[in-house]
Amino acid sequence: MAKSRGRWKGGARCAVCLTFDVDGESLWIARDPALAARPIHMSMGAYGPKVGVPRILALLKQHHVPATFFVPAVIAQLYPDEQRRIVAEGHEIGIHGWIHERNSALPAEAERDLQKRAANTLERIAGVRPVGIRTPSWDVSQHTLAISREMGLLYDSSLMADDEPYEVLEDGQPTGMVELPVEWIRDDAIYFNMDRFSALRPYTPPASVLDIFKAEFDGAYAERGLFLLTMHPHIIGHRSRVALLARLIEHIRGHTGVWFATHAEVARYVKPGGDATSAAAPR
Ligand code: ZN
Repeated sequence: MAKSRGRWKGGARCAVCLTFDVDGESLWIARDPALAARPIHMSMGAYGPKVGVPRILALLKQHHVPATFFVPAVIAQLYPDEQRRIVAEGHEIGIHGWIHERNSALPAEAERDLQKRAANTLERIAGVRPVGIRTPSWDVSQHTLAISREMGLLYDSSLMADDEPYEVLEDGQPTGMVELPVEWIRDDAIYFNMDRFSALRPYTPPASVLDIFKAEFDGAYAERGLFLLTMHPHIIGHRSRVALLARLIEHIRGHTGVWFATHAEVARYVKPGGDATSAAAPR
């Protein structure tokens, strides 16, 4: 695959992909179906699509920034108006499982059925066929790549072998499928998540998380690379944290030559035969 580094669309120096995994209630139901009867868990999940998503959409609109939202099909069915609003405001919706299932725990046929039904459900509700996937919990099974290829998907965004987009290989052979890599460092959940009934309290002050995200962006900018951030509306959507996202966008906006793009836009640009292959002069 053509190296995109340093030659982004329109001559931009750096590409920025903001992504939001709208897990909602599905996160807890997938973990333990009994939690569907627990109001505390269902209300924590509901906060994402009900409050976090509108707050995030307002911020993105204010700064004219496109983003990609990965939505489990069950959440799209529970909150169809939010999905239609996401698309209407120029953002992308990608596959994020049926109900945040753990792919590596499923037989291949069940994974295939859920992934295809998830794509069909998102298309029916949002009106646009999804072209990419972020597997729930970044859990990629031995079968996920084959299923995604059968479906003709353009990209995956669940793996971590580079900072920059790369082509996924299957049995050592090129697939034409683009990986838009994630990382725990660039994920809001690891800094803010907690669990009521365990000792999980890794609370990081929002100002410190902003410092880390800024440093990740600054590094991507210096290297003429990709800055890709994973966030969750039920986590980042709270008042003290959406404020850090606003500061981060302002920091990025203070730089020239930044291309804010959806995942589909970046994947189409860098894929074999895409514009990055022919557009750029050597560095
Ligand atoms: Zn998720």
